[in-house]
Amino acid sequence: MEIIVCIKQVPESTEVKINPQTKTLVRESVKGIINPFDMYAIEEALRLKEKLGGKVTALSMGPPQAEESLREAISLGVDEAILLSDKSFAGADTLATAYTLAQAIKRISQFDLIICGKQTMDGDTAQVGPSLAEKLGIPHVAYVRKINEVKTDSIILEQMVEEGYRRIKMSLPGLITVVKEINEPRLPSLRGKMRAKSVEILIWGVNDFNIEKEKVGLEGSPTQVIKIFAPQRRKKGEILQGDIDSQVEQLVNKLKESRVI
Ligand SMILES: Cc1cc2nc3c(=O)[nH]c(=O)nc-3n(C[C@H](O)[C@H](O)[C@H](O)COP(=O)(O)OP(=O)(O)OC[C@H]3O[C@@H](n4cnc5c(N)ncnc54)[C@H](O)[C@@H]3O)c2cc1C
Repeated sequence: MEIIVCIKQVPESTEVKINPQTKTLVRESVKGIINPFDMYAIEEALRLKEKLGGKVTALSMGPPQAEESLREAISLGVDEAILLSDKSFAGADTLATAYTLAQAIKRISQFDLIICGKQTMDGDTAQVGPSLAEKLGIPHVAYVRKINEVKTDSIILEQMVEEGYRRIKMSLPGLITVVKEINEPRLPSLRGKMRAKSVEILIWGVNDFNIEKEKVGLEGSPTQVIKIFAPQRRKKGEILQGDIDSQVEQLVNKLKESRVI
């Protein structure tokens, strides 16, 4: 089975600087880690490979430092890793991110299943997985908590929904996004760590695959973050005491004091 797992490097802490012009995160300003949900995506890909054979390729779009996260993925058992890194990819919103990943996957071409995490820790829109599937014209199921059965042209899944779960049959090639209930991520082996040190990480820039420049990065992003700020803490609420009449009187007085009425 040919599996592509999409992983994003996210800032380890919230102490990340914001570029005042583009209002995008200055990712180089803090240490990056593999997005937590993507650790479950990697683990599920490795378990499928161990059961069915095949190859796992990790794909990431990010700044040059994202190579570290791809090396970590290799240390866990991923076979190959590709970093999409170019100044023109910077500042991408989810549409431009999905487009760039889709164009890279068209160059990879051979795949049966793409596995994404449910969402990232920084943008946390949960939009990239489904958008990527649309861009590739393949079916997708989001919030997958279990893979029940894999056949050559279809897969039986359990999708997490509010009331419990749904059992779904999806044809392959297809894309899934996974939740934390799907497995328990492994730790890297010594052999894996050794291999991660020496393996070549492919780095693709804007001229290495078929890209329309106006569809990537900030230029290709209809969504622009115009302001990022921490939500203001609201004053603690107050519980009015006494009988109903007295509570109503207290409330009217407070509304008058605050000139709401
Ligand atoms: C605070 C903040 C708010 C933002 N708000 C918006 C917004 O409202 N709308 C918008 O369009 N953009 C927004 N962005 C930009 C958005 O974060 C980026 O476009 C990002 O690359 C993808 O979106 P996401 O982080 O929400 O990913 P999600 O859709 O949450 O990611 C889901 C999965 O897709 C895969 N994936 C995501 N990004 C990558 C990548 N770069 N490389 C490989 N795989 C990946 C991973 O498997 C991940 O688990 C915001 C960014 C920040 C920091």
